[in-house]
Amino acid sequence: MLENNLKEILTKRFNKSISEASNEEIYLALLELTKSNIKAKGTNKGKKKLYYISAEFLIGKLLSNNLINLGLYDEVKEVLAKNGKELTEIEEVELEPSLGNGGLGRLAACFIDSIATLGLNGDGVGLNYHFGLFQQVFKNNKQTAVKNPWITSESWLNKSDIKFEVPFGGFTLKSTLYDIDVTGYNEASNKLRLFDIDTLDESLVKDGINFDKTDIAKNLTLFLYPDDSDEAGHLLRVYQQYFMVSNAAQLILLEAEENGYDLHKLHEHVVVQINDTHPSMVIPELIRLLGLKGIGMSEAIEIVTKTCAYTNHTILAEALEKWPIKYLEKVAPQIVPIIVELDNRVKAKYDDEKVYIIDKENRVHMAHMDIHYGFSVNGVAALHTEILKDEELKPFYDIYPEKFNNKTNGITFRRWLLHCNNELASYITELIGDDFKKDATKLEDLLKYVDNKEVLAKLDEIKKHNKVALKKYLKETQNLDINENSIFDIQIKRLHEYKRQQMNVLYIINKYLEIKGGKKPATPITMIFGAKAAPAYIIAQDIIHTILCLQEIINNDPDVNKYLNVVMVENYNVTKASKLIPACDVSEQISLASKEASGTGNMKFMLNGALTLGTEDGANVEIHQLVGDENIYIFGESSETVIEHYKNADYVSKEFYNKPAIKKLVDFIVSDEMIKVGDKENLERLHNELINKDWFMTLLDLEDYIKTKDKVFEDYSDRDAWMRKVVINIAKAGFFSSDRTIAQYNEDIWHL
Ligand SMILES: *Cc1c(COP(=O)(O)O)cnc(C)c1O
Repeated sequence: MLENNLKEILTKRFNKSISEASNEEIYLALLELTKSNIKAKGTNKGKKKLYYISAEFLIGKLLSNNLINLGLYDEVKEVLAKNGKELTEIEEVELEPSLGNGGLGRLAACFIDSIATLGLNGDGVGLNYHFGLFQQVFKNNKQTAVKNPWITSESWLNKSDIKFEVPFGGFTLKSTLYDIDVTGYNEASNKLRLFDIDTLDESLVKDGINFDKTDIAKNLTLFLYPDDSDEAGHLLRVYQQYFMVSNAAQLILLEAEENGYDLHKLHEHVVVQINDTHPSMVIPELIRLLGLKGIGMSEAIEIVTKTCAYTNHTILAEALEKWPIKYLEKVAPQIVPIIVELDNRVKAKYDDEKVYIIDKENRVHMAHMDIHYGFSVNGVAALHTEILKDEELKPFYDIYPEKFNNKTNGITFRRWLLHCNNELASYITELIGDDFKKDATKLEDLLKYVDNKEVLAKLDEIKKHNKVALKKYLKETQNLDINENSIFDIQIKRLHEYKRQQMNVLYIINKYLEIKGGKKPATPITMIFGAKAAPAYIIAQDIIHTILCLQEIINNDPDVNKYLNVVMVENYNVTKASKLIPACDVSEQISLASKEASGTGNMKFMLNGALTLGTEDGANVEIHQLVGDENIYIFGESSETVIEHYKNADYVSKEFYNKPAIKKLVDFIVSDEMIKVGDKENLERLHNELINKDWFMTLLDLEDYIKTKDKVFEDYSDRDAWMRKVVINIAKAGFFSSDRTIAQYNEDIWHL
């Protein structure tokens, strides 16, 4: 049946059989076949619809994921194999959509998968960036950024006939809507709806990622978060945001009217989830459009407040957007009087300046607008939500305690287990059946095998296969040689000082110096990093530079490279994550406590049988509670202590630096060896930053980190004890299925 369909498509399009066709041709045929299967399954429907608006959807490649969700994966794989073709090689043809930065965008992607899987009526809404997030290329031990075009003539994007006009100050742009089908696991589908402009000019980008930022009609959807180090960059972001939400609001009202809904009761039929503050202007925009439909201001405000819900993703001050009102006057003057009215109503009711929308400096606090004029505010892990209520958003919690709720993040197990670690998924199925694919908590059935030596050995063998596969991949892609018999210690995530890659760097320096001094680890260690740094984030670039310099020094030092290797994976993205995570032994989750809202990488690693080395931060706290002290490695100061240090401004990194054991590690960054392979200016800047500022308190936790990590590597030698911990981690990972998260959003917020 499926085989015949595939043959038919290949004959029709290329006049070739499966074995004659190239990988590209088979990919295109599978694209067509998959799309028609999606269509046949239909779309989710309902009396109420969710619009999940997000500036990012880091969806990853879709072919295998869709085949898995449609229940066709095994059959396609078999049919191809019979004809001498490999599905994994066909997958290589597909380009990864470049529509997200990191965790926030990946979360949105997991969520739309789970929304479809639970059969809920809900679409994602965002922008169709042509060059997306930049592609990272290493040159002279530094990151360079180039554009990342991913849209091919045939792709998952389907052009719709929906077109809107978006009015900006002084000009209007026409938009076109593109849809990507979002398949549910064995269910009907939903859509990811991506708006674009018709007048985009890709030739604006010459080299790197630079372009004329002022020509909005030509550049609006070129890049995700273009370099925002100057005013034109900030303004472009505001243009993007308004374009996204104006289209979203128009789509919402169009669909409501098509369904014959009474706009006075919009909230009974529509719920909008505002993913971080980027889509916040949907609130004034919906109020404006309802006004144009004849609904008075007060009623429109009331309707919109009952329709919109806000998710907070961070407590880092720089990430809570505050736009100068003059930017909004330039970009979207028509919503400014509405924002002023919303602020006036707040100011009439409350004296506390901390809850105003427009502050004394005439900046609009987007999150404040969301909280006053939305019905729900959620954090993304238990600790994060508590910090919002007690600290960051306390004045709001005092006013609206009923709005605050927690929704601990999750990940889709289809992509992060069934697809990326097929061998493990099959073995789990052999052991406990396949109920866990629909109900992830069933993974707990694995607990009965914790002392079964045969099972532990088999799981260890699967891990080994994944390590060998990663070794092969790194050889092919970066010409790096790694030892599959070493411990794979992995830190992959966006580069940010709060995530503390620099602390990991200091550990590596310590281990390097130890080995040089004759103290060799029981098992060799491979330290793996993957991270992009925002182009304008200078210290982050310096940290990447330092890692790449260490990679060069250590991997080429014959005294050391038998025991320690450093690998920085180029252009970390979903595709790379899917190859790295199944091969991991030790998952590095070492953010400064209180700063990582949740993390989702931590969940992917746990599910794939890595042990967590982490601080008591974000969802690590919940992982710790689930697996118990024995099955996780926790170190570092608590979030309470860290918050106190910030309040009292009493952390002085120099005091830690002056300890000889720490000083020698920090000073190695500017040693002759490093400067020989690196750039003095970059290395000195990082050195200086650690000594004189260290805003995210690297040196505070360094000694405890080194001690705990040494213990992790020692413990690795006892294979049975280690694998016992691994089983417990996999068994307890069920809580972190995004199906659970989405069921809770629906139960408590959306009511679809
Ligand atoms: C999961 C994921 C992230 C988020 O990782 P954290 O460790 O939670 O920051 C970022 N990027 C990619 C490609 C991912 O798959």
